Amino acid sequence: MSDQAVIRAVDLHRVYGHGEQQVHALRGATLSVSAGEIVAVSGPSGSGKTTLLNCVVGLDSPTDGQLTVLGQDLADLPYEDRVGWRREHIAIVFQATGLLPHLSAAENVDVVLRIRGVGRDERRRRVDEALDQLGIGALHSHRPGELSGGQQQRVSLARALASRPSLLIADEPTGQLDSETSAMVLEQLRHAVSDHELTIVMSTHDRAAEAIADRVLHLVDGAIQETEGSET
Ligand code: ADP
Ligand code: MG
Repeated sequence: MSDQAVIRAVDLHRVYGHGEQQVHALRGATLSVSAGEIVAVSGPSGSGKTTLLNCVVGLDSPTDGQLTVLGQDLADLPYEDRVGWRREHIAIVFQATGLLPHLSAAENVDVVLRIRGVGRDERRRRVDEALDQLGIGALHSHRPGELSGGQQQRVSLARALASRPSLLIADEPTGQLDSETSAMVLEQLRHAVSDHELTIVMSTHDRAAEAIADRVLHLVDGAIQETEGSET
């Protein structure tokens, strides 16, 4: 990677459907994210936030434009190689939490560490630490169905942090949290960035999330409108 760009997106377009049904979800989105940054992507519902994040993690592909993530040009990465690439570098927290219903909170965090080949003692340490950090240590043996939406969201974040990714992509990670819990979770994300050389891009409607970000990108009708530093 020249300079420290973790994400470099140039003039991204994503068109869904054909003819009359066509939806132009991204219309020339251009952005660059450096290592160690927390970037918030804000914008009204339907502005293309989820589409942008899906493209960045390779779950969706732009119909036009250039996208390089962690030095990888995604156009050169076939679909069959994307799972392995993502697993190695990226943690994703999406609105559907993707927790496995038959596993406890702790097992849900543990399973991604197993997949990454982390040893047992280290796994136990990281699982406990991540659940504690997010204030849900006492819920470690609860299954997702026994947890509130906000608690499930925190398990999903714990799972992401425990895997120690270089890039965390989160779609409205505080969307189901009350303001006090949201502040606590955001503080932990800040810590994770300084402790583990993490880069975070998160979409959000949450003013508190924008406040902890190094930069806020405003997405309007599928394009980044302006860039501003945060006040903090
Ligand atoms: P946001 O996350 O900001 O609410 P989205 O990225 O989900 O916005 O959606 C942007 C636009 O693209 C919306 O008009 C949405 O309906 C449309 N869209 C998103 N995904 C699809 C899809 N798979 N098929 C068709 N249209 C889609
Ligand atoms: Mg969305």
